[in-house]
Amino acid sequence: MPLPTRAEVVVVGAGLAGLSVATRLVDAGRDVHVLEAAAHAGGRLATERVDGFVVDRGFQVFNTGYPRAADLDLPALDFGWFTPGAVVWDGGRAHRVVDPRRRPTAALDTLRSPLGPLPRKVAVAAFSARAAYTPVSRLLATSETSADERLARARVGAAARERFFGPFLAGVLLEDRLETSSRYLDLLWRSFARGATGLPARGIQAIGAQLAGRVGAERLHHGVRVGEVSGTAVTSDAGRVRADAVVVATDPATAAELVPAVQASAPRQVTTHYHVLPASPWPDPLIVLGTPGGQLVNSVVLTDAQPAYGPDGRALVASNSLAPTREADVREEVARLHGVAVADLEHLTTVTVTGAQPAALPPLQLRRPVDLGGGLFVCGDHRDTPSIQGAMASGRRTAAAVLRSLRPGTPPGAA
Ligand SMILES: Cc1cc2nc3c(=O)[nH]c(=O)nc-3n(C[C@H](O)[C@H](O)[C@H](O)COP(=O)(O)OP(=O)(O)OC[C@H]3O[C@@H](n4cnc5c(N)ncnc54)[C@H](O)[C@@H]3O)c2cc1C
Repeated sequence: MPLPTRAEVVVVGAGLAGLSVATRLVDAGRDVHVLEAAAHAGGRLATERVDGFVVDRGFQVFNTGYPRAADLDLPALDFGWFTPGAVVWDGGRAHRVVDPRRRPTAALDTLRSPLGPLPRKVAVAAFSARAAYTPVSRLLATSETSADERLARARVGAAARERFFGPFLAGVLLEDRLETSSRYLDLLWRSFARGATGLPARGIQAIGAQLAGRVGAERLHHGVRVGEVSGTAVTSDAGRVRADAVVVATDPATAAELVPAVQASAPRQVTTHYHVLPASPWPDPLIVLGTPGGQLVNSVVLTDAQPAYGPDGRALVASNSLAPTREADVREEVARLHGVAVADLEHLTTVTVTGAQPAALPPLQLRRPVDLGGGLFVCGDHRDTPSIQGAMASGRRTAAAVLRSLRPGTPPGAA
């Protein structure tokens, strides 16, 4: 589709933030065009097929506890779900730690798990209950510290910190010092405690593809890299487009290059190794947590949650390290975490994502400004929280701000 020379609104970047802006502007009847450097829509939510397996560009999951889940047609994405909890290895045995509020039948397993004496297990349950039932405004009003200190104050104990929260959160926050803001931990744990985590049948990219479908192919221009922006025009390798409003919805580093007022926080990285097993060794879809001294923060049989990720009933395993490990360095550890023979593992592919998500250090700056003035807007996970939720929420806020700027008097939240 050729680029127009003029549009009411130009959005740079078709990740979830940019697509969230564009869908709302299309719904409001605005003339919006999205310029995207890559060949696919969805940005960091990317999927490819490798030997018939569905391989996401790094292990990531969707959580129905995200408020912006409301913007998606979830049934159409045909999710497969994980059991809420994890497998923890201790003393040569695998223990299931499952949220007893959600799966009462697993309460006994959790009571027997190596998370310390009973009072510490009660503290873990209380931490989850607080996150699940405390209103967001009260969670955010709690004094801010690091995630590590928040867990210490919740008195979950050293065993739960080391065996459960440490590796579980490292796999989500992509850092293992738990230096992330306690406020982000509270919000994140709230979505885990309230929602279900899952994978769409056609891969994580299907989430972006669904939003892109609502924007329309005639408004989405792939393979177009933008090099300069102002509030009245963008210049790309495919030409210049004038506009009444320009939204920069790129990754944080590119946003900082295009708009000097934007500061990119340190990016987190992750390496995901994909292996195939003849069959899953587990009875239910649970993430397996890494053990102290290991290189992996977790490993998970994706096909247990979403069988459509495999072509033929074999099991697809994703194993994650924060450092850029080589497959040969972690193969034995993968086998150990799943209790299988090394020879059973067939290496499929390995992916390292360097700019996976921005850090969310204290002080957490939720809802950073999106309207930079003069017709220029910026959105993305770096404006809210480093997550699918954060990207979509920032897109929603930005769409409302753009609509207000185009038509003064539009009430907030009308987007
Ligand atoms: C491996 C991995 C695991 C993750 N795990 C989770 C998880 O489990 N749960 C969760 O909620 N979140 C997770 N995240 C984070 C989540 O994916 C991101 O926060 C979110 O997708 C960011 O969306 P965005 O729209 O802000 O940015 P992006 O997705 O980065 O979109 C920006 C878009 O801008 C385009 N672009 C960049 N520069 C230009 C240019 N000059 N011209 C035109 N286009 C340009 C890019 O190609 C891209 O499509 C994970 C991320 C990764 C990578």
